[in-house]
Amino acid sequence: MINLMNQYNNYVISTAILYVVPTPIGNYGDITQRALDTLKTVHLIASEDTRRTGILLKHFAIEASLFSLHDHNEKQKIDQLIKKLQHGHSIALVSDAGTPLINDPGYNLVRRCCVLGIRVIPLPGACAAITALSASGIASDRFCYEGFLPSKTKSRKNKLLSLLEESRTIIFYESTHRLIDSLRDIVEVMGYERYVVLAREMTKIWENIHGAPVGVLLDWVLEDHMRCRGEIVLIIEGHKTTNSTILVEAFRTFTLLKKELPVSKAVVLASKISGVQKNIIYKHALKNIGDK
Ligand code: SAM
Repeated sequence: MINLMNQYNNYVISTAILYVVPTPIGNYGDITQRALDTLKTVHLIASEDTRRTGILLKHFAIEASLFSLHDHNEKQKIDQLIKKLQHGHSIALVSDAGTPLINDPGYNLVRRCCVLGIRVIPLPGACAAITALSASGIASDRFCYEGFLPSKTKSRKNKLLSLLEESRTIIFYESTHRLIDSLRDIVEVMGYERYVVLAREMTKIWENIHGAPVGVLLDWVLEDHMRCRGEIVLIIEGHKTTNSTILVEAFRTFTLLKKELPVSKAVVLASKISGVQKNIIYKHALKNIGDK
């Protein structure tokens, strides 16, 4: 195997390797030195859109062979790329913007490489979801990334419903023309008060990050149609378990247990399961028994 050393001691561009190379999400200044070195050195760049990648490469005066790999031809083209890797070629995988595979093509290629034991080296770099999250002011210790919300209202509402009690921060990508419908559905399914951040045009001239309870955010967007414009990340604060929710759960558990057990035992068990004090559940039990 030939190793092409570059200026970094700990960084060697090797052959027979697939490099996953993030590209900027708007600001060319965000490309990393390592990404540039990799793009310059590999035998081939597999790209989602060779025209767009061509513009990026031209900007950085990089001459490279491009190979088209997008959603519609990915499966067929993978065999060709795998053969090249097995013959010792180094390949960089790039998408239109940001990190390949994150709502962009590349998964099937990476998967095949992993299965066949071909080394895959990921480069860190731009990703709209992470960039937006880092400035959202919403909890970033636990989050889930959900890609784009479905385009049809019914599926979108079902998706939101399935995430109603998700306690982690939820990240969606969204498009300009669906933003208002999606915000309306979030209001309807998750309630007016759920806190949401709208992050638009990250890293670009018109970058804007605005957070508010989703009902207020919807009104703010409706006030000025420019606020729908551009590329969008939506970040939804996770569901907060309120005391009342915990109590409702505890009483529900007690009611179920009471059908099979004496009241005192049902109270003890419901308390252990829910963490709610025994006397609170007991008071509820007495009230309910009294009500009947
Ligand atoms: N692979 C990309 C990444 O790592 O973020 C995502 C590709 S996905 C096809 C494109 C979507 O990402 C856009 O429709 C938008 O929702 C989001 N996006 C990309 N660039 C963005 C930016 N500069 N600001 C806000 N959202 C962006």
